[in-house]
Amino acid sequence: MEPNWQRQRKDIVSKPIYVTRPLLPDRKELEPLLAEIWDSHILTNYGPLHTRLEDALKHYLDVPQISLCSSGHMALESVLRRMELDGEVITTPFTFVSTTNALIRCGLKPIFCDIRMEDYTLDPDRIEEKITEKTCAILPVHVYGQLCRMDEIEAIADRYGIPVLYDAAHIFGVRWDAGVPLLRGAASVLSFHATKVFHTIEGGAVVTRDATLNRRLELDHNHGICGPEDSLLPGGNAKMNEFQAAMGLCNLNHVEQEIANRAAVCALYTELLADVAGLKLLREQPGVRSNHGYFPVVFLAKENPRDRVFLRLAQNGYYARKYFYPLTCDMTGVRAVCGGDVGPIDTARYVSQRVLCLPLYGDLEPRHVETICRIIRRELQGR
Ligand SMILES: *Cc1c(COP(=O)(O)O)cnc(C)c1O
Repeated sequence: MEPNWQRQRKDIVSKPIYVTRPLLPDRKELEPLLAEIWDSHILTNYGPLHTRLEDALKHYLDVPQISLCSSGHMALESVLRRMELDGEVITTPFTFVSTTNALIRCGLKPIFCDIRMEDYTLDPDRIEEKITEKTCAILPVHVYGQLCRMDEIEAIADRYGIPVLYDAAHIFGVRWDAGVPLLRGAASVLSFHATKVFHTIEGGAVVTRDATLNRRLELDHNHGICGPEDSLLPGGNAKMNEFQAAMGLCNLNHVEQEIANRAAVCALYTELLADVAGLKLLREQPGVRSNHGYFPVVFLAKENPRDRVFLRLAQNGYYARKYFYPLTCDMTGVRAVCGGDVGPIDTARYVSQRVLCLPLYGDLEPRHVETICRIIRRELQGR
């Protein structure tokens, strides 16, 4: 048998492979849209490409209206503000820190609630114990393209007369037999950041059925300006510009292909890892077509080999990411505001310490998937 270091050398890739790689259209597709921008001299302020992207997204997502935004984070903040919330918001610590920061920056108090082991989303059975007279909303997150237990969460919210706002940054393009997931609750927030399945370089949007809220969001994203001589509400600047819209229009033409390509990469990962003992893979939710945004694995072995596998992959040029570690409630800035004592969130802690998102994008070559799986198997099984 060859010595260990040689076996590892063979796996080293010439270029590093990161957890994802932004989708890029052919430059030839972008150029006519750039030419339109040069012709019109309209660079921002709800220009023609902005309108066209809005229409295209309404059609693709099957929603009656959408308010585009400069980022997913600003979209979250704007909707928290325009829903006029005040008090405590029950949310998950197993998310990107943006979810929690948005609450804090809007003067709301995050109340951290545990997640489900099945799909890592907010656990409806743990929500009610967190409700107080100060509770003003619930902010669940659809994690890794998996849908939250929306019926159960909304039943609790209805009982207490509080709204549900979904962080839907991970579910662009997710299809569901039971309806359009983005139309549930008071509103859903999307992110179009470069690392997401669909992107506009930076960008985001709010989807809501409520036309009045939608109008207020549009105002909020543009200084509250309602005409040349007035501002209706104290908005900020969170507009999507024409270059972002151009990128979005091009990427939207390829997003279904990208999702299909990602599905094939995920199928190969699943095939190569399914029989590895002590490894939990994402399970398909019935009636849901995932967008395959992430391929998380959770290491179940008592000794927790997560960090060992993470390092071994990195030594070989494969940069997996520990999404979501640490929990947002453990981040320095959040602790400074919320304090360290957040109550029992055992499942969130368990998953956070053991999860690793493997590299995943549409044109990730099968040989890389094979090498990544070989490295994982070798670390876990010693061969
Ligand atoms: C990406 C993301 C955000 C923030 O979106 P940006 O567009 O990066 O501001 C919020 N929540 C979750 C769960 C995300 O993954």
